[in-house]
Amino acid sequence: MTKRIYNFSAGPATLPLPVLEEAQKDFVDYKGAGMSIIEMSHRSKQYDAVHQETKAAVKRLLNISDEYDVLFMTGGASTQFAFIPMNFCTNGKADYVNTGSWSKKAIKEAKIQGKSVNVAASSEDKNFNYIPTSFKFSDDASYVHITANNTIAGTQYKTFPKTKAPLMADMSSDIMSKTFDVDQFGLIYAGAQKNIGPAGVCLVIVKKALLETIPEGLPTMFSYKTHAAEDSLYNTPPVFAIYIMGLVMKWLEANGGIAGMQKKNEEKAKILFDRIDKSDYYKPTVAREHRSLMNVTFRLPSEDLEKKFITEATAAGLSGLKGHRSVGGCRASIYNAFPKEGIVKLVEFMDAFEKAN
Ligand SMILES: *Cc1c(COP(=O)(O)O)cnc(C)c1O
Repeated sequence: MTKRIYNFSAGPATLPLPVLEEAQKDFVDYKGAGMSIIEMSHRSKQYDAVHQETKAAVKRLLNISDEYDVLFMTGGASTQFAFIPMNFCTNGKADYVNTGSWSKKAIKEAKIQGKSVNVAASSEDKNFNYIPTSFKFSDDASYVHITANNTIAGTQYKTFPKTKAPLMADMSSDIMSKTFDVDQFGLIYAGAQKNIGPAGVCLVIVKKALLETIPEGLPTMFSYKTHAAEDSLYNTPPVFAIYIMGLVMKWLEANGGIAGMQKKNEEKAKILFDRIDKSDYYKPTVAREHRSLMNVTFRLPSEDLEKKFITEATAAGLSGLKGHRSVGGCRASIYNAFPKEGIVKLVEFMDAFEKAN
């Protein structure tokens, strides 16, 4: 029998088993084509069906109107950090909210391009353990950029700020984990490898009207216009990653859609947070009202105990609980595909560990 452990990795992260099994079944001979999906032309009928169906499912799941384009891009979320100022910082000014490592990297890319960045709010004063609630947006920013879920710090916006300039969000680690209104945003992007697929594809949802504002003269591959005009097929797209993402979309639709995921995610996170809150042994690291339901961060009484906890958890089949190297501690990433049973198992382990140590 195949051995599957409970994988708390922050990304690439656990995927639904039925998705992996279907990909395995179809891998060598894709639905009677006599070749694999990764061996055929990206202009073939079979691949085109995958491309179009994946896009249609994304639109259905997130209720995306025809005012938006859905793009499949490469280079991960990190490349979007550079794309956004390049394409949309048309007057040289942009607002950013700084909620942690990923926000900082996004800000860095705007500055590299000589843009004037106004940090409209920051939670750096408290080691990024909360989400700011008051913002100093400028009047003339080209856009406002936020990080919806802070994978490393373990915080998450519960509501999004209202902005005059188009709001642009990095949703890499919480897209499709809860319902929200796409219409609040000018652009949304998400590297797939946290919640919706494998590494290699980055989902971008962009308002068509904004595409009109993109300056001419950008290198072809660095303009969103190219990707929108060519339906993400200007060059060879990451066909395998898009195919797997399509299977994840199918799994989401068969499992209650985004509302169904939200309900499960709230249940799952509650089990873990209730255990953390039960005693002083485990300490949550972020403000209660901004706790991420995707990346649950906590500390133990000492770094030595944290090391021991992670080692023994790994031996017990609970993998990936080490916090990000920049913050330490423990982190349980419990994305859509992470099963509730794994969290129950972790809680049992936490109880036993506290008793023994
Ligand atoms: C993982 C992550 C990124 C980086 O994604 P890549 O696809 O590796 O570039 C950016 N932002 C957030 C919020 C992330 O969690």
